[in-house]
Amino acid sequence: MQRYSIFSLLRNALSYHEGWERAWRAPELKPAYDVVIIGAGGHGLACAYYLARDHGITNVAVLERGWLGGGNTGRNTTTIRSNYLRDESIKFFDASVQLYEELSRELNINIMFSQRSQVDVIQTWPKLRDLRRRSMASELQGADYRLISTEEVYRRIPILADLQRSRLPVIGGAVQERAGVARHDAIAWGYARQADAAGVEIHQNTEVTGIARSPRGEVTGVETNRGAVRAGKVAIVVAGNTTQVAAMAELRLPIQSYNLQAFVSEPIKPVVHVQVNCPDAGMYVSQSDKGELLAGGAIDQASSFRQTPRYSVLEDAVTALIEMFPIFRRVKLMRQWGGTIEFAYDASPIISKTPVPGLYVSCGWWGGFKAIPIGGRTLAYTVARDEPHPLNAPYSLQRFDRLNFLMEPGTVTNR
Ligand SMILES: Cc1cc2nc3c(=O)[nH]c(=O)nc-3n(C[C@H](O)[C@H](O)[C@H](O)COP(=O)(O)OP(=O)(O)OC[C@H]3O[C@@H](n4cnc5c(N)ncnc54)[C@H](O)[C@@H]3O)c2cc1C
Repeated sequence: MQRYSIFSLLRNALSYHEGWERAWRAPELKPAYDVVIIGAGGHGLACAYYLARDHGITNVAVLERGWLGGGNTGRNTTTIRSNYLRDESIKFFDASVQLYEELSRELNINIMFSQRSQVDVIQTWPKLRDLRRRSMASELQGADYRLISTEEVYRRIPILADLQRSRLPVIGGAVQERAGVARHDAIAWGYARQADAAGVEIHQNTEVTGIARSPRGEVTGVETNRGAVRAGKVAIVVAGNTTQVAAMAELRLPIQSYNLQAFVSEPIKPVVHVQVNCPDAGMYVSQSDKGELLAGGAIDQASSFRQTPRYSVLEDAVTALIEMFPIFRRVKLMRQWGGTIEFAYDASPIISKTPVPGLYVSCGWWGGFKAIPIGGRTLAYTVARDEPHPLNAPYSLQRFDRLNFLMEPGTVTNR
């Protein structure tokens, strides 16, 4: 595999960038693999990479109905943080932040991880209580999430509206210094390139249309639009479509799909230097290196598999943005888009084997971009060993049998 470096960049610049190798191959689909992963988003590709790196399993096919990274991995606002509430979640997501810190080197691709911090702007007492609880839980787990004063909020976000005489003044804030943003495509491409180099096959435009099982119920492979493929193990990693794909194996899961959308403005000079989250207003915003404001709001509360945005939800998020940042009222929006995310009944993810032998699932990701490295790694462990890694053991499906919920309320999505 050709390494990316300043020297290879210079060398290829001299030859008009015509000498770059393909980042990953497009091989023929074989009739059988040891493992089939359904979905070439960040989680599926990371799982393939860690199967090869940590477990030496390389006879793996990643099947993607569209193009690699074209699902939620290519549609999200890339916030990476670990300020969760439950001990299990803080440990899990903090391990992911730590993997992100090394990922550019590990994958030999610049993922542009910018740890610019996330500042939560608090305007109501219940939210202040919630975030104080989170900061205490974080402290106990050794994560860096803490409350800050109103003055500190304004120091970190000087262009925030002066709301002190409004109905909802800023009454405090919270910060995670190690939180940040990364380039979403680079995560998918980086994992794809390294997995491919290790021997994993990635098949785009290959939709899984059925899951084949033996008379005893074990998984034996998948049906696709390009024919049948046998496999000893199959992992469903399809973000918002999990319930539909799991139904192919007569498996019902305790999750529901929703539409979440985001938008970007035209580029402007740098004015927002941190990732800003306004949970009471229902909006969050950061500024990309190109200068675009990248913002999102709450989910569309109607359950659906839609990827297209709904105008009224966009309007709510834009109204909140302008309320918090009146300075942006004349900025033009360039694009808006949506994706299909999922919530489990307790809003924690599921990374688990299933009651169907040989079938595994990683789902319930409403904020799963930040979890791609650790989600992929623990799913690979679960698939390879048929048992959970200590970090994803709390995220098993069995917790729903025992009603042992891991309630994890969102910070922005108001779930
Ligand atoms: C607008 C928006 C903003 C978000 N913001 C954030 C954020 O700031 N921070 C954060 O951490 N998370 C965020 N998320 C969530 C995050 O994007 C997802 O949780 C994460 O990307 C999920 O990754 P994935 O690999 O599981 O899914 P995906 O990237 O969606 O990959 C799943 C793939 O499966 C494929 N597939 C589906 N069905 C089939 C089939 N039958 N056969 C073959 N392939 C199939 C799809 O085409 C898709 O490519 C956001 C999501 C959205 C929509």
